[in-house]
Amino acid sequence: MTPADSIPAPRDTTDLRRSATDAGTGASAPALHLSELTRHFRTDQGTVKAVDGVSLTVGRGEVVGLVGESGSGKSTVGRCAVRLDEPTGGTVRINGRDVTHLSRRALRPLRKDFHLVFQDSSSSLDPRMTVGRIIAEPLRLHGLASKTAARTRAAELLGQVGLRPEHADRYPHELSGGQRQRVSIARALSVDPDLLIADEPTSALDVSVQAAVLNLLADLQRDRGFGCLFITHDLEAVEYLADRIAVMYLGQIVEEAPAPELFARPAHPYTQALLSAAPVPDPAVQRTRERIVLSGELPSPLAPPPGCRFHTRCPLADARCRTEIPELRTLSGGRRVACHLVSTDGTAPDAAAAAAAP
Ligand code: ADP
Ligand code: MG
Repeated sequence: MTPADSIPAPRDTTDLRRSATDAGTGASAPALHLSELTRHFRTDQGTVKAVDGVSLTVGRGEVVGLVGESGSGKSTVGRCAVRLDEPTGGTVRINGRDVTHLSRRALRPLRKDFHLVFQDSSSSLDPRMTVGRIIAEPLRLHGLASKTAARTRAAELLGQVGLRPEHADRYPHELSGGQRQRVSIARALSVDPDLLIADEPTSALDVSVQAAVLNLLADLQRDRGFGCLFITHDLEAVEYLADRIAVMYLGQIVEEAPAPELFARPAHPYTQALLSAAPVPDPAVQRTRERIVLSGELPSPLAPPPGCRFHTRCPLADARCRTEIPELRTLSGGRRVACHLVSTDGTAPDAAAAAAAP
């Protein structure tokens, strides 16, 4: 099975929004396709290899989780995907169209197809605009609705994100953090985008409202069928929301698999370590699970280790891992993994046992 087999079939959306410019790219093209995406930052200390050759596809209507510890390059991938940051290499395709080098002007009419909701999106809401106007604005900007129609649509959207009609007349500062994030989501979805990138959308919120906002995103995604790249370090959330999960380490994808398979059988030693550190709701399971404590800090992306980038912290690393770069191989079941020690049938070494050994 090729990775393309794991992409769900395109949904039948009555699509009047698509402009003539991307006719021919086809309704079957993935919502997002990143190929060898690279983002290096030149700094006084040297070149920060924040993202280093990431290839990833979000099919139409598919939710792909992107996980990895802080500093692994997740946000940079998200920002490059929506062209808020300029990739230094590779390509970004949205709905099959190469947008990597499009000018701002050429990008403008396509902006309605993809949106980024980030951790503190709510702080970017214009404080002088009412909630109703904030939500309706993208519709007006893209000329997709008359003033009256936009107002009606904004009212509908308010309801869909669980806010009351009277919220339309409030200002952002009059709302709670959770309500503001709902407004950001409503605004992002007002133009019915094909792709939503959600970068830690709940991590700035009170724990008590995080689940509600995640549920809202899940419901909206199911109803609307937009493709979603869901960036998070919350493994519980990603297990709940994502169809497929990609794991990043130091600017690269080290493993990708359908969500249930990744959780049931993490292959890469780094994925095993990441999952072992996550809390399990069932205390009986929690007791039996061996926690893999990784030694050391995430190495600097200024000087990634040679060979396998994870070898400096991997309990299983051998001589080959220290010198030879493992390629991201496609295994059966739509799994991709970059580890010399995982066999072609996906049999993985037990990092917990190795970590426990003296
Ligand atoms: P994550 O979202 O996974 O925490 P980021 O994408 O924010 O990771 O960052 C990846 C790496 O790139 C980090 O080492 C970060 O310090 C570095 N980085 C991000 N933006 C810049 C920038 N503008 N200039 C220099 N380094 C950057
Ligand atoms: Mg981030």
